[in-house]
Amino acid sequence: MFQKILIANRGEIALRVLRACKELGIQTVVVHSTADADAMHVRLADESVCIGPPPSRDSYLNIHQIVAACEITGADAVHPGYGFLSENAKFADILAAHNITFIGPSGDHIRIMGDKIEAKRTAKRLGIPVVPGSDGAVTDQKEARRIAAEIGYPVIIKASAGGGGRGMKVALTEDDLEIALQTASTEAGAAFGDDAVYIEKYLEKPRHIEVQVFGDGFGRGVHFGERDCSLQRRHQKVWEEAPSPALNAEERARIGGICAKAIADLGYSGAGTIEFLYENGEFYFIEMNTRLQVEHPVTEAITGIDLVHEQIRVASGGGLSVRQEDIKFNGHAIECRINAEDPRTFTPSPGTITHFHTPGGLGIRVDSGVYSGYKIPPYYDSLIGKLIVHGRNRVECMMRLRRALDEFVVDGIKTTLPLFRDLVGNADIANGDYDIHWLEKYLAKEE
Ligand code: ADP
Repeated sequence: MFQKILIANRGEIALRVLRACKELGIQTVVVHSTADADAMHVRLADESVCIGPPPSRDSYLNIHQIVAACEITGADAVHPGYGFLSENAKFADILAAHNITFIGPSGDHIRIMGDKIEAKRTAKRLGIPVVPGSDGAVTDQKEARRIAAEIGYPVIIKASAGGGGRGMKVALTEDDLEIALQTASTEAGAAFGDDAVYIEKYLEKPRHIEVQVFGDGFGRGVHFGERDCSLQRRHQKVWEEAPSPALNAEERARIGGICAKAIADLGYSGAGTIEFLYENGEFYFIEMNTRLQVEHPVTEAITGIDLVHEQIRVASGGGLSVRQEDIKFNGHAIECRINAEDPRTFTPSPGTITHFHTPGGLGIRVDSGVYSGYKIPPYYDSLIGKLIVHGRNRVECMMRLRRALDEFVVDGIKTTLPLFRDLVGNADIANGDYDIHWLEKYLAKEE
């Protein structure tokens, strides 16, 4: 097992990882920018190293400084959290070259999945169902027209290097295709330094369902069931639940089995999430994330398994603590992402939190690094906390969620809490009857 883990992240996820390390009796080092000197995880860690000024590229993305912090403190492993360097293959390779363990998969696996065209090809080869579309990058209009006609409109043009919901354009008819292809490719080149784009069928009313997988480092793969993250705004997840209200046990076992086998065949090590769109009973792979997800706590709630413990065990060569047959699903869990944003316009609302009171009681978990008097810096994403509620079934979970939202107090800034208070009383949400466009339509109606 590791002696000392360096946490290369900030906010709620830095605290989340720190908790797991403490439970396992592992010493912790956190790195932080000057803007985060007062953060809770910095106070709670055994050691902290300031690695630079507020902009992420000078601190949380500065590989050189992070490796130096490992050397100075003698950390033998790095947990990257999500975002920042968590899916940076070069970072994983550099750490390996310094004999520091990256708590995540190999650089090669990150590279394959970071390139969406390559990822889709690999998924197909491993027997995972994919969205119909081009086999690889599409450059000329004629080829694009041929493929689009073959799969049928509408189609979506996506950047191979895309991420965070950026670099996507929909073409409803052939008339839109030329311009969609051009803009997607130009935008991808500007945003990601890679203008490769590909085409796939645009699914009109899918749900977003993702499977949590783990490779144990010894060639075995398991799945921890699925999460439904269909409630999105601008392709950003807002509300996540496990299990999906749309799947039955047979579908869960089938897609989970396909994913677990794929992970084993790939020789993958650590946590991963295989994301699908789901429509009319069919699953279509869209991408794989090679890291811990923001929404992992809903899976922890229904399985009772600490996924960060498992990540650390696997990275240290100790394998998983569970076999597939030990992973049981119990009840229902929902996560609300609480952002420092206006609940209607979603404009960021940084500033000082004058009062912060979190709900409690049975089945309630709040993952957050903020506190009363905390000043939210304007440099980073606006997630200030996650409310995760567990119940014996979805009805109980929703009742408890409504109560927990009433109890949650965040004063001094705007947050997305009022949005969740509306959603929890909505009939479609109560029925689990929503797709990936539901929230955008709902917000447009409310305006
Ligand atoms: P990113 O890496 O940028 O998050 P994804 O490929 O995961 O990109 O897609 C993000 C979201 O975009 C999906 O959750 C879904 O809402 C939408 N999307 C992606 N591909 C399609 C598709 N073929 N049809 C319809 N919507 C799609």
